[in-house]
Amino acid sequence: MLIVTKIVNLETERAKISSQIKVGFVPTMGALHLGHESLIKQAVTENDYVIVSIFVNPLQFAMDEDLDKYPRQLDKDKELCEKLGVNLLFIPSEIEMNTISQETTLIIPPVSMMSVLCGKYRKGHFQGVATIVTKFFNLVKPNMAYFGQKDAQQVAIIKKIVNDLNMAVKIKSCDIIREESGLALSSRNQYLTLEEKQEATLLFKSLMLAKKSFLKGQNNPKNLIGIIESQFKNHPILTLQYIEIVDPETLQTLTKITNSALMAIAAYCGNTRLIDNLILTVKKPIIAIDGPAGAGKSTVSRHLAHELGFLYLDTGAMYRAITWLVMENQINSTDDKAIAKLVGLAKIELLPNSDLKIPVTVKVNDIEVTKAIRTPAVTTNVSKISAQKAVREKLVKLQQEYGIQGGIVAEGRDIGTNVFPHAQLKIFLTASPEARAKRRLIDLENQGESNLNLKQLIADIQERDYIDSTREIAPLKKADNAVEILTDNLTMEEVINKIKSYL
Ligand code: AMP
Repeated sequence: MLIVTKIVNLETERAKISSQIKVGFVPTMGALHLGHESLIKQAVTENDYVIVSIFVNPLQFAMDEDLDKYPRQLDKDKELCEKLGVNLLFIPSEIEMNTISQETTLIIPPVSMMSVLCGKYRKGHFQGVATIVTKFFNLVKPNMAYFGQKDAQQVAIIKKIVNDLNMAVKIKSCDIIREESGLALSSRNQYLTLEEKQEATLLFKSLMLAKKSFLKGQNNPKNLIGIIESQFKNHPILTLQYIEIVDPETLQTLTKITNSALMAIAAYCGNTRLIDNLILTVKKPIIAIDGPAGAGKSTVSRHLAHELGFLYLDTGAMYRAITWLVMENQINSTDDKAIAKLVGLAKIELLPNSDLKIPVTVKVNDIEVTKAIRTPAVTTNVSKISAQKAVREKLVKLQQEYGIQGGIVAEGRDIGTNVFPHAQLKIFLTASPEARAKRRLIDLENQGESNLNLKQLIADIQERDYIDSTREIAPLKKADNAVEILTDNLTMEEVINKIKSYL
């Protein structure tokens, strides 16, 4: 690892690096901890050459702040950077960075972004950060630069500057690293006594308390802020400086959380100022669509997911994928034990596509099987395989995992009753056997089949309905709170609009 203290030497080294090499940059003020370490590790993983800077930037400290006593531990920091695989460590002096002169040019971020959160209490702080970071970007010329979400206002402001000034660097924001107690790591934690450290966990705990309330449906920032304020009332050691809920990008105060929000806090623990934050994201709904075969579930689900930008959770494709795997391994469809073992180890993935005809790419154990699972042989075997307990258990669990993020349209027989009993919207899509038979007739004729008998098709559909609704495993049943839509006289657009009207 090269250690450089002069700008001229940094420039010489930078000039040696070809434009083909990806350069990652992590600016820090030193006293490195696991939070910094996570940024550096990510930079090392994602780039060919990593530059870390250590510079306690006087421009971002006010007169009454802790510039002089800010922790400095250069030897330890150098050792850590070396160990993590940093290529160049830049440790300039204040003279070198020209932060002593009163006459230096300053980068001024938008006032609206500096007049909230920490900016309100740390006058000049963000212009100091913006100026030094811009200067570093000009010297280091990184492809990617890494910042901690711990300083969420800093990240938002730097992203804005990079965008506004057309800088050729991509900003990566990295997760907050915390102690087991929940306390966010910070170089300033070194100032805390043991007792203070214990009490300081209230920042995170109170944020989590408000988040819990948010997840239960409280989306009024005033009420969430109230929850946190009450935790700090009359606290013997902690003094709340601010708790605000703002848009994570523009940092403007929110009156209602409709999409995502940054909930940020600052408090004094004794004499030490600490900050923390959480992102609140409104979970997109799960739409569960059940109904008998031939009611138009898959066409409607596919189009609906496409219109809403949701994932189409093609549960049928998952069962087909397992069936393909069983056949590929030449396992008999009645060999429960062998199937259970195979399924237990299987990795099934549905990856969304923008193509409406192939809305998801299907992978089994990293092999793409989107087409292979649609062969007649798979179609013949799929119902036998999907009746196996181990197969159902594995796939229901997987489907539920996809549901954690929300924003999915899932379609099947038991989605609203069994897979997602708490889905925000449950639809039971149905049509009379006659209407379904007529649709089937048209489909088959389009596929070139002739000599079709409508009466026979109606009888087939009635028999299938009977089997589906009386089967032992996952019978077709309307969930109690599902909205029933009879599609006999509706176009697909009308069905979709009806579903959307319930959202
Ligand atoms: P600092 O040395 O405090 O200027 O921090 C340097 C970088 O490390 C900044 O981008 C910080 O946001 C980031 N950082 C500091 N603490 C943490 C933490 N606990 N988790 C993740 N990143 C952090």
